[in-house]
Amino acid sequence: MGGSGLLWIGRALVLLQLVNGVLGWGKEGHYAICKIAEGYLTKDALAAVKELLPDSAEGDLANVCSWPDEIRHYYHWRWSSPLHYVDTPDFKCNYDYCRDCHDSAGHKDRCVTGAIYNYSMQLSAYQDSVSDVKYNLTEALMFLSHFIGDVHQPLHVGFTGDEGGNTIIVRWFRRKTNLHHVWDTMIIDSALKTFYGSDLTVMIQSIQKNITDGWANDISSWESCRYNLTICPNGYASESVCLACKFAYRNATPGTTLGDDYFLSRLPVVEKRLAQSGIRLAATLNRIFASQIKIAEA
Ligand SMILES: [Zn+2]
Repeated sequence: MGGSGLLWIGRALVLLQLVNGVLGWGKEGHYAICKIAEGYLTKDALAAVKELLPDSAEGDLANVCSWPDEIRHYYHWRWSSPLHYVDTPDFKCNYDYCRDCHDSAGHKDRCVTGAIYNYSMQLSAYQDSVSDVKYNLTEALMFLSHFIGDVHQPLHVGFTGDEGGNTIIVRWFRRKTNLHHVWDTMIIDSALKTFYGSDLTVMIQSIQKNITDGWANDISSWESCRYNLTICPNGYASESVCLACKFAYRNATPGTTLGDDYFLSRLPVVEKRLAQSGIRLAATLNRIFASQIKIAEA
């Protein structure tokens, strides 16, 4: 593909983001997470992923990791919208599955951590004989890969009263936006322009290098779940709401202009969360597509 083709795709992505608005890590964030995860899949998990991917993925999980954001506003898929986040009580800075995991109508388990449990359980049916599987495992894989990303975005585990920062209007440098969108998209976009020559591949490589150098000793603790469980999204949600209080909400009250100080102090948090999501997505898929499943945690 020539340079102008790439430029065109770049513009289309920007347009898509403007249309999409407020949705979870932006397209770049989810792409980066799944790209990082791909590098840590076992042979068995990689084979299962390849078999389940839709044709549109062209063999690459990263190409379909934003799919749940693309469809969530269509009528047919509107039920999936509350599955991208979990709201916590205002100013509490902690998360509790039983208290917090419900949609706005109070239906239990309809939140991002509940969705991670649900789609992991569905995917574990992959080992069953084909005729017994009653789920769409391609959709389950795309949902799970997306939601493990979302639960790591601090403001996807934010306060109910401000809808995870969506109603906090701020300026990002000169541009008017909301705090949630800053964390989904703007910090990553500014980092791409400022430090990575507007090239997502370069940013991903830099995060991968941090994983193998700076964070090498942390990987095994990121990967593992307490009690050897197969999945443990509750821990990720607890981390997120702590980070929301410590970094996202701090110095970002309505009307604030966020500039260099905020950008440069929060970017390392965002990059670490992208790294953790990637590592944990891979570890989760590796466990699901190995034998011996243990899922109950909540
Ligand atoms: Zn999302």
